[in-house]
Amino acid sequence: MHTQEPGAVRHHSVIIVGGGQAGLSISWYLKKAGIDHLVLEKHQVGHAWRNERWDSFCLVTPNWQCNLPGYPYAGDDPYGFMKKDEIVAYLDGFVASFQPPVREGVTVTRLSREAALWRIDTSEGAYSADQVVVAVGGYHIPVVPRAAERLPADIVQIHSSQYLNPQSLPEGEVLVVGTGQSGCQIAEDLHLAGRRVHLGVGDAPRVARTYRGKDVVAWLDEMKYYDLPVDQHPLGTGVREKTNHYVTGRDGGRDIDLRKFALEGMQLYGKFEGIDGDVARFGAGLKGYLDEADAVSESIKDSIDKFIAANQIEAPTEARYVPLWQPPSDQARALDLRASGIAAVVWCIGFRTDFSWINAPVFDGRGYPGHVRGVTAAEGLYFLGLPWQYTWGSGRFSGIDRDARYLFDHIAALRAQAGQPLMSQAA
Ligand SMILES: Cc1cc2nc3c(=O)[nH]c(=O)nc-3n(C[C@H](O)[C@H](O)[C@H](O)COP(=O)(O)OP(=O)(O)OC[C@H]3O[C@@H](n4cnc5c(N)ncnc54)[C@H](O)[C@@H]3O)c2cc1C
Repeated sequence: MHTQEPGAVRHHSVIIVGGGQAGLSISWYLKKAGIDHLVLEKHQVGHAWRNERWDSFCLVTPNWQCNLPGYPYAGDDPYGFMKKDEIVAYLDGFVASFQPPVREGVTVTRLSREAALWRIDTSEGAYSADQVVVAVGGYHIPVVPRAAERLPADIVQIHSSQYLNPQSLPEGEVLVVGTGQSGCQIAEDLHLAGRRVHLGVGDAPRVARTYRGKDVVAWLDEMKYYDLPVDQHPLGTGVREKTNHYVTGRDGGRDIDLRKFALEGMQLYGKFEGIDGDVARFGAGLKGYLDEADAVSESIKDSIDKFIAANQIEAPTEARYVPLWQPPSDQARALDLRASGIAAVVWCIGFRTDFSWINAPVFDGRGYPGHVRGVTAAEGLYFLGLPWQYTWGSGRFSGIDRDARYLFDHIAALRAQAGQPLMSQAA
């Protein structure tokens, strides 16, 4: 740790807030161009992958999509799905490949404009910068419903970001609430470990792992879906609000079919609605959610079929999915937590963003930054790594290189306009 005179403000041409894959990617471009910069990271680089994923976590996206700048996946399993430790090793390898200037254990507490510079207040004093890249991901505040306060005190409750493994929960049955990627995979993790799981199902879509001889991701890649800019998406920027499709990379990759889990003894419910005394209550929509998730998965297959036909591609045919199970007409809508021996609840209903520490007039009424491909209306202020910032891959491994390169060009152009050399002296 370097020490700093009290009150002194250290200057860098560019400061990057966050040392995940996004912050490190823009650092790679800046370092290569010799532009003085510093990455400030609250914890340790790659913190989210190291500390906010459960033990059996593995990528949902295939390894070949891990394409950090100058550091494409080079392992022997491009069509596989790295496990948590391998992802961390991949990121560590990326860091070792170019030695970015990072200060770990430094939290940025406020970002504000001061005359012609950005002022960055941190847990170790103030910095200033000509330009700032906010690369803090999109998952800041774990969402837990207010009703959680009504859960009997002896039932352990955690958010998905705190879940480690089945053994870390007390013995007994488990209620998992939410069926985005995390909820489905955590429910499966518990289920495979022999725990009886009750699952509050929501309206997340699903996607098949493979279809007609290939990973669906490979088809979508060939179909250029991953190049589709957000402003050309049928939902426009509304796609940023959508829950990810559930599927898994576990054990080499497979579908997640909640109907199959139900046949194997998992108890499915509709959306979690609240708690009355010892009873958790759920909505009536289970059948609709399962049907809709399947319909989305089948519609993706439809578009693959069309693509195959239009391009006269030779691909094996494949029978379509037939639902394995249907909820009974008297589908359970209440779960007596005590009578069922529920020992733990895992809330898997996502995260909220928190940019409240940024004092710049760039946010909309809901606190989302206005930007075009990460460039805001405030000169020299950028975002990187937001989900669907520009394309599907923006908040993932696959698209971060493209977005980082774009911002780098912007940063370099602003420097050129200001008469600042590309190769600058370190402050
Ligand atoms: C459960 C889950 C599964 C995912 N699975 C996949 C997948 O299979 N494939 C894929 O490509 N993507 C996946 N993603 C999406 C994405 O790749 C990850 O979220 C990834 O961590 C995003 O990288 P990032 O650099 O944008 O943000 P982060 O990794 O979140 O990094 C941001 C960094 O900023 C730091 N920070 C935050 N605030 C401050 C501050 N005020 N001061 C200083 N530092 C700060 C944090 O400590 C953190 O290290 C998944 C995400 C989640 C949540």
